[in-house]
Amino acid sequence: MNRYKQAQSLMEKRNFIKIVCGAGNEDSDEVRRLTLVYTLAGAAAIDVSANPDIVRNAVKGIDAAFRIAPELDIIIEARPFINVSVGLKGDPHARKAQILEDMCIQCGKCAEVCEQNAISDDFIIITQRCIGCGICAEECSSDAIEFFHKRVELTTVLPDCIKEGAEMLELHAVTDDDVSVLNDWKILDVLIPENYISVCLDRSLLSDKQLVERIEKLYDITGERLIVQADGAPMSGGSDDYNTTLQAVAIADIVQKSKIPVKILASGGTNSKSQELATLCGVRVHGVSLGTHARKIVRSLINSEDFENNTELIKQAVLTARKLVLESRPEQM
Ligand code: SF4
Ligand code: SF4
Repeated sequence: MNRYKQAQSLMEKRNFIKIVCGAGNEDSDEVRRLTLVYTLAGAAAIDVSANPDIVRNAVKGIDAAFRIAPELDIIIEARPFINVSVGLKGDPHARKAQILEDMCIQCGKCAEVCEQNAISDDFIIITQRCIGCGICAEECSSDAIEFFHKRVELTTVLPDCIKEGAEMLELHAVTDDDVSVLNDWKILDVLIPENYISVCLDRSLLSDKQLVERIEKLYDITGERLIVQADGAPMSGGSDDYNTTLQAVAIADIVQKSKIPVKILASGGTNSKSQELATLCGVRVHGVSLGTHARKIVRSLINSEDFENNTELIKQAVLTARKLVLESRPEQM
């Protein structure tokens, strides 16, 4: 079976569980370790930033998982797809925080809430780790945190990512600028002519009607190869409850009701309850993209210095990750 058919089959079984390392996450150690753990746990895809070095590290994580699997008595069902994400200006996934030194009173609140450990002891943003979630800025009462867009040159960087092993691409398109979306989309569509490409959309700037109209335009270009990643509340899956995942299911419902024959992944605030809530609400998602929550539940283990050489730690991380992957597949419920 070719790779497109493999992905299609996983989505038709609603088993396409994608682990999101973070479109802005350029911490190669974290990406490699997350990929190792979630490959062993049965993820269908790993989402990484548009950086050839990061793609290389994701490939290393997958290869390491296949090497260690027999020792852990695990059979990996399928090699995960590596999906590379890029974002348009304005999309939170494509931005980085920076602290304005002259405004900062060094209270430390931002560092306390940053899940990515991306703020140093002397209050400088560690850019490779920052995913642009904005949680730090919400905590800062001095307005000392601002954001800058990290533009990726699609026609030069993406071909390098594909050479390193990326098989799918994704455009984060939180903008009301339809022209820019279509321009970037056409580039992605040409680069991956034989596999799925996805668009990540939320409702922060688009009405429900505009959302559906945008999907129609993308479907006209890409047809059945289009995945819509329905982003409830971007990068908000910190808590593992029904309310946190409610918006992900709600936006997936809008896409489903449009009847455009695209594949739908729930994302943004997704957690172990997402598939269950979607099923209870009659929303048929083809998979779930898990970011903040998936990273959080294994972080303390993968951060250990000797993690990749410590079979016991890997085993513990895989047990935790496997539970989340299984809870995200409908046949397990
Ligand atoms: S929360 Fe704001 S003021 Fe406090 S340390 Fe962070 S940037 Fe500085
Ligand atoms: S809280 Fe989010 S936006 Fe702020 S530094 Fe950490 S990762 Fe970056």
